[in-house]
Amino acid sequence: MKGVTKAVCLLSGGLDSATCLAWALREGFEVHALSFDYGQRHRVELDAARRVVEALGAADHRVAKIDLRVFGHSALTDDIDVPKGRDEAQMDAEIPITYVPARNTIFLSFALAWAEVLEASHIIIGVNALDYSGYPDCRPEFIAAFETMANLATKAGVEGRTKVKIHTPLIQLSKAGIVRLGQELGVPFGLTHSCYDPNSEGRVCGQCDSCLLRAKGFREAGIEDL
Ligand code: ZN
Repeated sequence: MKGVTKAVCLLSGGLDSATCLAWALREGFEVHALSFDYGQRHRVELDAARRVVEALGAADHRVAKIDLRVFGHSALTDDIDVPKGRDEAQMDAEIPITYVPARNTIFLSFALAWAEVLEASHIIIGVNALDYSGYPDCRPEFIAAFETMANLATKAGVEGRTKVKIHTPLIQLSKAGIVRLGQELGVPFGLTHSCYDPNSEGRVCGQCDSCLLRAKGFREAGIEDL
């Protein structure tokens, strides 16, 4: 019997990570989806993550509860207003206050720990270095450095049993490119959640970076956001 190839896929419940999950399934991975309840103001995204897993399927879905509010200092984890209505020039010029300190380092570290337990060599993360908010931990050089570190960090890596590969299927895509790929892969867009600052009913604000980038992606792809 041919063995399965396991992968850990980070899944926030947003458009990008849902597209990564669909990509991983198409690639034939046995996908173990990992989400984080980290004190984010848009915790409603975890419901989206569960709905996306129900719709697309995954071998397993875990939600790790960690508290990044212990440090705060981000509009997503602290009592700081989420910036609204920023244009592309502003997004390109500065790292916004929605940056969560070291978030992808923390998330990838958890993914690495689970991968070691699963004896999985593959980790998938939906970072994107084109249409993004300017976060330093979304850049290809960060991912490459983390991959190098990962292979020094684990028992499985040191014993030569597994070599960790971090896949970033979206990293060179525009937001429109992600939308097109998502459509091709059958991502249920309507189940995903992108907004950083939803109201108490979970309705999107339409003006945060994440809402604006999502709208731009669908507009440029000529596809309707459901
Ligand atoms: Zn929003």
